[in-house]
Amino acid sequence: MKDRLVLGIDTSCDDTSIAVLSGRRVLSSIVSSQLEIHAEYGGIVPNIARREHEKNIPNVFEEALKKARVNIENIEYIAVTYGPGLAIDLEVGITFAKELSKKYNIPVLPVNHMEGHLLSPLLLNSYGSGLESIEDIFPSLGLLISGKHTEILRVDEIGKYEKLGQTLDDAAGEAFDKVGRILNFGYPGGPILSEFAKKGKSGVIKFPVPMRNSSDLNFSFSGIKTAALYKSKELREQGIPEKEWVYDFCRGFVDAVFESIAIKLSKAIEGNPEVSTVLVGGGVFNSEEILRKVGKLVRSYSLNFYYPKKEYRGDNGAMIALVGYLHTEENVKGLLGEELDSLDRNPRLSL
Ligand code: ADP
Ligand code: MG
Repeated sequence: MKDRLVLGIDTSCDDTSIAVLSGRRVLSSIVSSQLEIHAEYGGIVPNIARREHEKNIPNVFEEALKKARVNIENIEYIAVTYGPGLAIDLEVGITFAKELSKKYNIPVLPVNHMEGHLLSPLLLNSYGSGLESIEDIFPSLGLLISGKHTEILRVDEIGKYEKLGQTLDDAAGEAFDKVGRILNFGYPGGPILSEFAKKGKSGVIKFPVPMRNSSDLNFSFSGIKTAALYKSKELREQGIPEKEWVYDFCRGFVDAVFESIAIKLSKAIEGNPEVSTVLVGGGVFNSEEILRKVGKLVRSYSLNFYYPKKEYRGDNGAMIALVGYLHTEENVKGLLGEELDSLDRNPRLSL
């Protein structure tokens, strides 16, 4: 039996992304990034993102079908992100999905963007072992670290998630970007900060490790951001040229963020001894260093470590199609007609 074909659409933030999957296998995944446009403004501007999504989505769609070598008539389901994200941007993807559905009579599967990040390691060309069968991986823990989210979940089965801990203020990616701004790296500062940290020495400039002693699994990154602001002011006032301290500064910051993640993840693993696998996802795992260190920690507990391929760590339509596909395996039917008409964006949707 051939796996069903699912189209996945994500316009939750600044990437217009559409993918075609056959079961869990990616046939095409097109991402049209707007990063350069928003970089000028130092952050995402929702109405500019909307304009760009509207302009780009027809081409991204055509390209995704062409690359997958399928016709729209062969698509069995359309999966679309309906939250969380920027309201007016989510709307573009939802409207596009509704129009396709009406025209070709294809049911629509509404998908939670965070479930996409969480399950992105299960895309067939991601990394891990035993991925041919996903039945064996439950219960697992999920660690999501992105621009807006930092959370640890327990995954008992597809669709059954329990949030064990999350950030009480800034997300880790947001802290990377804010500290990047303090250091004049532009937007987004996270990737540059990670690069600079490679050239720095640990222990020269130290930052407080957030929530080190709290007994729960929550995170907090706003304190470390404030500490970075004061520390940078101090160093600048001393007149020390930036290039003499910036690498050690970034090193210290990344060390503190990782340490905080490591403490909470260890605690979650130790508190859930029946878990055999850890799944990770989200844009901050574009940092190969954080990915490698988290992987090492997970394996030190003799657990399996599954993570998405680089192109599926940031926002993408493939992870959305994957969630849609996995839901159909659980007998979710999808929306058509009037039921579909009432599908609305949910900017603050949570897992
Ligand atoms: P969201 O969907 O929540 O906006 P994404 O999953 O798209 O987030 O991830 C974007 C975040 O990932 C940004 O905060 C960005 O700075 C961060 N990021 C991307 N690459 C790196 C990197 N190499 N090191 C650290 N952070 C990174
Ligand atoms: Mg995302």
